[in-house]
Amino acid sequence: MLSIAAAVFIILAPFRLELVVMELLLLSNSRSPDGSYLVHAIAEIAAIAAGRKRALFVPFAAVTVSWEAFVEQVRPVFAKAGVAIQSVAALPDPLTAVLAAEMVVIGGGNTFQLLRECRRRGLLEPIAARVRAGTPFIGWSAGANLACPSICTTNDMPIVDPKGFDALGLVEFQINPHFTNALPAGHQGETREQRIAEYLKANPNRTVVGLPEGDWLRVGNEAAVLGGPHAAPVFRAGQPTAMLVPGQALGCETENPALLAAAGIGPRIAGAEQTR
Ligand code: ASP
Repeated sequence: MLSIAAAVFIILAPFRLELVVMELLLLSNSRSPDGSYLVHAIAEIAAIAAGRKRALFVPFAAVTVSWEAFVEQVRPVFAKAGVAIQSVAALPDPLTAVLAAEMVVIGGGNTFQLLRECRRRGLLEPIAARVRAGTPFIGWSAGANLACPSICTTNDMPIVDPKGFDALGLVEFQINPHFTNALPAGHQGETREQRIAEYLKANPNRTVVGLPEGDWLRVGNEAAVLGGPHAAPVFRAGQPTAMLVPGQALGCETENPALLAAAGIGPRIAGAEQTR
């Protein structure tokens, strides 16, 4: 006699779906205040690589350094994590390289140029499809911006026209990398919090995570978990800004007056009117 569970398994076996787990590591920054390059990320890079030995590197965000020089800056860091990188810019057929990539790594720089160069080469859809199929993705700064629905919460100037702001859409939230709310005394420009409030006014259904330097989000299918030394503010239109604590998953953030004050964020509602 078959048990009910065994009978159900046999009937459904031909229709079994593979569970694909997306794996993303989205970092705020590459260089630390002591000048070291990506050192704070090596353990996380090795963890997400999980034994993979090769990664495709996308250097298109680099503007004032050459793409070749950027690759050589990144190469030794990934070697320490046991991963050899190959630059997509050096390949005659970038599309085939994306389709064969074991891991995709996108470095920082100018987000508008990064998006333009990826779009020009028709790489956005293939990269997104590959990552959705389980290929790990690592992005820092501009590379983290590119993983979001759009690049609209970058800090960068639009130095080139990317022909649309939509990005990879690998996560549902927006990241503002290098987050700080500091403003020099007497400075009359907007704070980062004010800029994000403007974004939320125009895009009230979005969530924005202000990712302080040194932090990252490790994203899987179920959760986006904050890593690093700092709590990160989470902004939503019409709601008080909440703070996500390292080790917590996005959605678990709370209004925490002490952490908000430490991050220099005022008790205000994101998306509310500002007068300047
Ligand atoms: N320019 C930054 C970087 O890639 C991105 C940003 O600040 O939005 O380092």
